[in-house]
Amino acid sequence: MLFWGACLLTACSELVDADSERILPPDPERVVVHKIFPNDMAKNDSVAVNLARGIMLVVHPKASYQLSFEVDSTQPVPELQLFRTFPIEGETNRVGYTKVRTLSPQVVGNRYVYSFVCQENKMSIWFTTLGVDGNYYEGKVKDIHFTGTGIYNDHFSINLIAVGSLRKTEDGMGIDQLSRKMLDVFREKFYGVTIDTIYVRYAHEHPTLGSKYPQDKPWVAGASSKDYFVSELAGWPEDGLRNALSIILVHGINEDDIMGFSHLFPGILGAGKEVSVVIGENVRRSSGEMEQLSSKSIVMTAVHETGHFFGLRHTSTTRRDLSQVAMLDEGESAPVGDLSNVEDGLTDTPFCRYVLESGLYRQAGEQEFARSDIFFLNSPKYLAKSKLYECPDLENIMFPVTVNEDINVSFSKQQMELVRSSLMIIPH
Ligand SMILES: [Zn+2]
Repeated sequence: MLFWGACLLTACSELVDADSERILPPDPERVVVHKIFPNDMAKNDSVAVNLARGIMLVVHPKASYQLSFEVDSTQPVPELQLFRTFPIEGETNRVGYTKVRTLSPQVVGNRYVYSFVCQENKMSIWFTTLGVDGNYYEGKVKDIHFTGTGIYNDHFSINLIAVGSLRKTEDGMGIDQLSRKMLDVFREKFYGVTIDTIYVRYAHEHPTLGSKYPQDKPWVAGASSKDYFVSELAGWPEDGLRNALSIILVHGINEDDIMGFSHLFPGILGAGKEVSVVIGENVRRSSGEMEQLSSKSIVMTAVHETGHFFGLRHTSTTRRDLSQVAMLDEGESAPVGDLSNVEDGLTDTPFCRYVLESGLYRQAGEQEFARSDIFFLNSPKYLAKSKLYECPDLENIMFPVTVNEDINVSFSKQQMELVRSSLMIIPH
């Protein structure tokens, strides 16, 4: 179950700070479900609308941030209050919070700009409120942007973790050969950052967890164990590997036509819950057949999912992306998909309305549960003559569907800048 999307609030008892400043806590009548991570350029209208009463900001140690939006001249200037959250023992979905600080904006052009540095020692979720004299701000919050600059380097390493029994790729590659190809392709496609090296580790050889991952058992993510991400294998306990990007290679994924998945900006390199990129050596078709994938498909799926890992959205949004749901207490759920985010907001990646209109990936409602923020690369088998071939973003790596292996796909300049700034924000 993925709970990243939703946080219920607990009542905040102290309403006045030590310095007798008034605290405006997030609205206790609401569930905080909307979240923004730095440098995301999508419209995020739901975040904007909920900023005053409480959204989640994803923040990292020592990074500098600016939150900005348009001035509403019909309203007084609002103060931004920031709250750090902390888990409450025995509660999975409920968090506590304390105020971090109150900020007044600078006015730059027609925008309010709030600047701050995060002093946490690990990735954290902060809540917001916007207030005027202790009341929630009533102005319109339009064109919200959240930018961040980190202090870490722009290098990373990959740890390719092979789980269970694996056969060769469709074109006859074993793991070592596949890993060398993966390194070459990652270095070519992620041209704006440096990939130091790729490690290969086998789950059955893990120093403490090895016995849970028998070498002779084909591992199906989501079926062989509950945790789709096989999270416990991330952050391999060995020097040099602890902060590598964990790419988990499994026999297959327990869902039709899915070649790989990742959260959008999980924000952690190393050990953590659901911070891995998962790719299948085979893809399950609706017939139930496990179809062998080529080394190119496997590697390009890893590149695409790693794009999500570093904060890249699909160039064109799918229905699956928009129909995300966060699980709340007692089986309740709340929609978290933002209908304004029909594309990634980058000006150098074209957008294809047909992807959304086609409803290609409309899923039964239930399947969307517990899928908040997961992104997939789909590879439907029969797409001949599909209008998808006319999409202008077909040659972008973050196009949501694999239509033809032979198309030479790439990241745009703005996408690579986003990847690089995300990498420099994430401690490693
Ligand atoms: Zn994707």
